[in-house]
Amino acid sequence: MTTPAGEAFALFTELTSTEPTGLWSAPGRVNLIGEHTDYNDGFVLPFAIEHRTHVALGRRDDARIRVVSTFDPVPVEVEIADLAAIFPDDREAVPEWARYPLGVAWALLNATGATPPVGVDLAFASDVPVGAGLSSSAAIEGATATALNETWGLGLDRTALARIGRTAENLAVGAPTGIMDQMASMLGRADAATFLDCRSLETRSVDLGFAKAGLELLVIDTGVKHSHATGGYGERRASCELGAGIMGVTALRDLSVADLDRARELMDDVTFRRVRHVVTENQRVLDTIDVLAAEGPLAIGDLLVASHASMRDDFEISVPELDTAVEASLAAGAIGARMTGGGFGGAAIAVVRRTSKKTVTDAVTAAFDDAGFAAPHIFTVTPSEGARRDG
Ligand code: ADP
Ligand code: MG
Repeated sequence: MTTPAGEAFALFTELTSTEPTGLWSAPGRVNLIGEHTDYNDGFVLPFAIEHRTHVALGRRDDARIRVVSTFDPVPVEVEIADLAAIFPDDREAVPEWARYPLGVAWALLNATGATPPVGVDLAFASDVPVGAGLSSSAAIEGATATALNETWGLGLDRTALARIGRTAENLAVGAPTGIMDQMASMLGRADAATFLDCRSLETRSVDLGFAKAGLELLVIDTGVKHSHATGGYGERRASCELGAGIMGVTALRDLSVADLDRARELMDDVTFRRVRHVVTENQRVLDTIDVLAAEGPLAIGDLLVASHASMRDDFEISVPELDTAVEASLAAGAIGARMTGGGFGGAAIAVVRRTSKKTVTDAVTAAFDDAGFAAPHIFTVTPSEGARRDG
């Protein structure tokens, strides 16, 4: 069986007729809980998954950087000195996918002021599904950042590399995303999640204990395409800003559940419900961490279910396919389930006992069929280690 690491190696040797000097990889991620809290300066609890993007890297004799991917076998090659002319304003000069790795190279050199000692060839292969809400973008950014940081001797730590990935995504790709995905991909640990305070950027590794408790995580990809470009995401952000303004705080992070009675009196019903989602979701992230420590992972189900209800009823970002995935999972014995990611489509997660994985999978598949929805893609994810050198 070919692995993505093997594919990256093979793609590299095909491109250069030499062997790479090193292999690195970085994972995608799933958010366990904490949705639409990031841009409200709040809390998130994602974990890195075993699906990874691999890169094979070799040094060159000149000062050029060349990237190639199994996604698009046409290599893209530029002078390293030209990166500063391409990004951010002339990014159309390179194909969209290449803006991720070349953008990371640009952001690294911009942040450090370094002149790279060598040119490089990079070949990518991945088993992170694209657009399923698992952040294949953070995976390719993390793999590139880790490989170049080491090869060019830049000495940045993991948190700094996460910021580099975000800079690349925001400025070189042009996607206005937060830093959660990159932090999760850089800082992941086996059977642990990464708590992130999106205001202070403080992070903490949180043991999940799923393996010991015999639990597994299912991702139920509904196949319903979501897009940040459609109005919903921007509208939700605007409601949150409005709510924070009415309450006289910098961000909704500054409110607690006790402030909600006053909020209800001061704002219209829709804005209030948007605010209530964010405020209660922040509390649920903190509660999840407490419950994990005090009672273990079997006890977090109610928090996941409450998170889903809040997104469905208050934030109104669920779709019938996601609701069906959650309801059918729970009815078939899942410990907890919720939609994950930005909403309006994408995937749900379900925490299940290893022994009931098949029952839940079959029940969700049958429920989709009954409802006339296209068959979902259901697979297991395992909380795993972050970016690393593999060879
Ligand atoms: P996701 O939710 O998967 O992160 P994004 O739209 O943020 O979706 O990022 C996906 C994009 O990242 C792809 O369309 C492609 O441009 C780029 N990308 C991700 N992985 C790879 C890869 N292995 N090779 C080339 N490009 C990739
Ligand atoms: Mg992404």
